[in-house]
Order: sequence, then C-alpha cells, then structure tokens
Amino acid sequence: AQKTSNRKSRGIYEPDMHTYLKETMLSEMNLRRGLDFNEFKLFYQPQVNCRTGEVTGFEALIRWQHPERGLILPGDFIDLAESTGLITPMGEWVIQEAVAQLKKWDTPPYDKLTISVNVSPRHFLHHNFPFYLHQCMSDSGISPERLVLEITENVALEDQKAVTSRINLLTEMGYAVSIDDFGKGYSAFIYLQHFPIQQIKIDRQFINGLGKDTKSIGIVQTIIHLAELLGLQTIGEGVETKEQWDILKQLGCTELQGFYFSKPVPIEEINRQFLNHHQIGKLFLPVQMETT
Ligand code: C2E
Ligand code: MG
Ligand code: MG
Ligand code: MG
Repeated sequence: AQKTSNRKSRGIYEPDMHTYLKETMLSEMNLRRGLDFNEFKLFYQPQVNCRTGEVTGFEALIRWQHPERGLILPGDFIDLAESTGLITPMGEWVIQEAVAQLKKWDTPPYDKLTISVNVSPRHFLHHNFPFYLHQCMSDSGISPERLVLEITENVALEDQKAVTSRINLLTEMGYAVSIDDFGKGYSAFIYLQHFPIQQIKIDRQFINGLGKDTKSIGIVQTIIHLAELLGLQTIGEGVETKEQWDILKQLGCTELQGFYFSKPVPIEEINRQFLNHHQIGKLFLPVQMETT
C-alpha cells in the first residue's frame, strides 16, 4: 500500500518498475537461498474422525522461517515458487520431510497416522514426480496410503488426459489423491466424472456458512451425499465451532480439520501436546478430551 501511494504522489513510473523488478529478482534469489539454507519448516494441522473425534492424521503446511522477516505464510511465496519452477525442489523437500516424520511414527497407535501434503499442479504433472515418490518411499518401509496427495482444482485446467493418467498411476502405486478446496473453482464436477480420486476436502467457505445460512447446509449436504454415492471420503475444512462439527456429524462427513481442533503447529507441539494424550491406543486432542 505504501508503494502505491509513493508511486502516485511522485508520479514516477520507471524507477518504481525498476525497484519492482529488483525486488522480484531478489525474492527469487531469497527463495533459492532459503531452500539451500534450510529455512523452510512444516507445520502440522490435525485431522479427526468426524464421528469419534479420534486423530487420523495431519496436513503438512509449509512455512518460511526467514532470518529477517520472520515466519512467512505460503500465500506469500507459493506463487513465486510456482512461476520460477522452484516449486519442484520445494515440493520434493516437503515430501522428504513428511516421509521422515511418518517413519518416526512406526509403533501403534502412531503407525496408522497419515500425512497429507499439498502438491502444486506443476509439480504434480512433472515427469519425475512418481519416480521421486517411489524413491523416497521405497526404502522407508512406509505403506503409501499413509501419504495423501492433495491437489487443487487448478490441476484440471491442464491437459485432462495427462492428469487422468497421472492420478491413475499414483493410485496404482497405492497413494490416495485428495481434491483440496472442493467446490471453490470451476471444475469440481470434472474431477468426480473423470479422475479416480479417494477424497474431497469441502472448501472452508461452505463450512463457514454452516449454522449461519441454510444454503450452505444444502450445498454441504449435497456434496457429502454425492461423495457417498461415489465412494469418496469427505473432509470438512476450516471447522471453527462445535456447532459446525455437530452439523457435519449429522450430515455424515468423514473427517474434519480446522482451528476448532487446532491451528497448524510445529511438530514438537504435536508430539508434546497431542500425541501424549492417547488413551487405550486411541489418539485424541486435548479439546476432544474436554468435550467427549
Ligand atoms: P490449504 O491446503 O487449503 O490449507 C488450509 C489452509 O487453511 C491453511 O493455511 C490453514 O492454516 C488454514 N486453516 C485451517 N483451518 C482453518 C480454520 O479453521 N479457519 C481458517 N480461517 N483457516 C484455517 P496456510 O497454511 O496459510 O496455507 C494456505 C495454502 O497454501 C494451502 O491451502 C495450500 O494451498 C498452500 N500450501 C501450504 N503448504 C503448501 C506446500 O507445502 N506446498 C504447496 N504447493 N502449497 C502449500
Ligand atoms: Mg485421513
Ligand atoms: Mg491442503
Ligand atoms: Mg484447502
């Protein structure tokens, strides 16, 4: 906002353009350096069984621990990573980290936990992607269904044949493919018609309307019903209240994720706060133990 007002008040265009270019180049360099110097970190947000509240797994969400600027959220660097191609090494790092974590959870009840990773369209369709996955997983001893691949509807904007055969291959390899932010874009139904996916994540904006307007209930109910008919799991994203949980339970949603249960937190926090709370071999969050 500051930059815009400077530009307006001074009426200078070219020097600003120059600064702009310099800044983007610097950020690309920064991003590269950030990768080289291991400045990225995964945060984990729990996913729970909607009926029982049991923790089933976590979504891994990337953060950039920048030495000067502090913690940077993915909204501020994923686009740049995507446009510069750095998304591929970044995505490989995410997979490597997630697999290393899964490997640490190797005894019951932890060995059932899943980790969902977000895979950008560009990386998902990269020719090396299945090979990289295979290479990471093959000597880990982890069964592939514990690593869930989240893709967004944008992938469907690419070559449909390529996307279909890629999802088919990954499914044959044993991975579950999940559609993130389902319902938000233009191509939601294309997925259901053409792609062999296992799970859809109902976009936060619909969950947000539950308990506020009847239209949202209708939309969510219809998505869940359709998913049931097609044999797909549903995850409600962005659950912030007990009321939303109750409604989703009534509608038969499979799993839930959201601030009501926990914000995304560093792995140390997960291990310290949540995973020590297991009772009779089942994992619950502290909030769960209060309410159930
Ligand atoms: P997403 O995959 O849909 O992740 C969910 C986002 O919603 C996360 O934001 C999470 O912090 C936020 N969220 C979760 N529960 C709630 C809630 O109850 N209320 C509200 N208001 N928000 C909630 P985050 O971590 O900033 O990530 C934003 C997006 O960046 C992600 O959306 C995903 O598309 C992308 N992203 C994150 N990590 C990665 C990654 O490792 N690789 C790639 N390619 N993209 C990533
Ligand atoms: Mg799961
Ligand atoms: Mg996601
Ligand atoms: Mg999402």
